[in-house]
Amino acid sequence: MTTATSADGPATNWGGNVAFQAKRFLRPASLAELQDAVAGSDRLRALGTGHSFNRIADTTGDLVLLTGIPPSVVVDAARSAVTVGPAVRYGELTQRLHEQGRALPNLGSLPHISVAGACATGTHGSGDSNGILGSSVSALEMVTATGQVVSLSRLADPDEFCGAVTGLGSLGIVTSLTLDTVPAFDVAQLVYEDMPWAQFMADPLGVLSAAYSVSVFTDWGTSSVKQVWLKRRTDVDASWTPEPRWLGATLAAGPRHPVPGMSPVHCTQQLGVPGPWHERLPHFRLAFTPSSGEELQSEYSVAREVATDAIEALLSLGERIAPVVQCSEIRTVASDDFWMSPSYQRDSVAFHFTWVKDEQAVIPVVEAVEERLQPFSARPHWGKIFRLDPELLGARYQRWSDFRELLGRYDPDGKFRNDFIDTYFPADG
Ligand SMILES: Cc1cc2nc3c(=O)[nH]c(=O)nc-3n(C[C@H](O)[C@H](O)[C@H](O)COP(=O)(O)OP(=O)(O)OC[C@H]3O[C@@H](n4cnc5c(N)ncnc54)[C@H](O)[C@@H]3O)c2cc1C
Repeated sequence: MTTATSADGPATNWGGNVAFQAKRFLRPASLAELQDAVAGSDRLRALGTGHSFNRIADTTGDLVLLTGIPPSVVVDAARSAVTVGPAVRYGELTQRLHEQGRALPNLGSLPHISVAGACATGTHGSGDSNGILGSSVSALEMVTATGQVVSLSRLADPDEFCGAVTGLGSLGIVTSLTLDTVPAFDVAQLVYEDMPWAQFMADPLGVLSAAYSVSVFTDWGTSSVKQVWLKRRTDVDASWTPEPRWLGATLAAGPRHPVPGMSPVHCTQQLGVPGPWHERLPHFRLAFTPSSGEELQSEYSVAREVATDAIEALLSLGERIAPVVQCSEIRTVASDDFWMSPSYQRDSVAFHFTWVKDEQAVIPVVEAVEERLQPFSARPHWGKIFRLDPELLGARYQRWSDFRELLGRYDPDGKFRNDFIDTYFPADG
């Protein structure tokens, strides 16, 4: 019998706003050690890279660090697939994939996060036809509450698989994920500045579909949208020559950071210089701090059909949002079938907020945003700050009670439960 070693762990999440309550940190060095750790613990949770801004990863029991398990990345070019271990970060995976001429269709804003942690919370990038990052998953393995390894795949277990991909870390500890890959491609990234709100609001979905991946940055407080980032695939838009002016906006003369005052050296190459997908689709470079580093985050997704009205609603709250937001990002996400995905069965527009790092000032505004977005059935990002009432939130997910049932079946004794999960998915009885 092997035992996972107790280890020193991080005191807080990346944002520094969540102090972990774990009694112990465990760092298993193998699958067998992980199985023993799970079987021998009453209460535990896996930690990815700790980039979530709420208590979703926390536990009062054992927090399991998966970095002791060798970070395997196995590319199967013949099957257009790649299988990754539990602690692999996108930054490592994408490099290896690109070396083999393969790619993922999309990435989030930063390569620093773990694949397992990102898929667990429904993390996404942007692009009308790009689903959440979990959309690439075709199979997964996890160690469930008894210490058994369970495998689920899109083909063999289509329904349960859709419950497990965005599993919120609560069905078991994911030990491997197999992802679909596509041939590697190049992307050129451009930034336009100061698009007048009137121009943007004339056709927001048109702006958001102007490239393979589009991000619109604003503070909701000024007369113009601050920046529009366009990421174009060079294989699709080979003859694209950018106009110096577009919808009243100006092509940026130099590289830009979306957060005012931050150096663009943190950002991936812009100015239309073509480069590999994994060096353009994320906004931030692996070797640099992403975003501002001193912040809180929230994000809400609504159906694309109501996005224009939702933007109007947020604009009407601009005077309250602007003083506490560093920047806000509007992106599109394609529909999927993952039960707990914020884009479940609806093509979505997501409204992200990088807040100042002051919970007292920010929480009342988060509540006001939620109230303003109430008519649009907004679904919050599972890894960011939100305050929605559990009943209201549950009513926005068609498979909510199925997911509760799945939690009960996979984890009858509540080993993987924490305060966050108890709040939103109380155990029966
Ligand atoms: C600067 C910054 C930029 C961001 N940009 C984006 C963005 O562009 N798009 C977006 O959607 N989100 C974004 N996020 C949010 C981020 O993607 C999510 O919070 C994501 O879950 C973080 O991954 P992680 O590895 O840090 O997971 P953690 O925060 O460590 O964990 C998240 C959840 O996953 C579970 N988990 C982790 N590993 C495993 C495992 N092996 N098995 C089972 N459960 C596991 C944990 O228990 C927890 O419940 C950003 C966050 C930051 C800090």
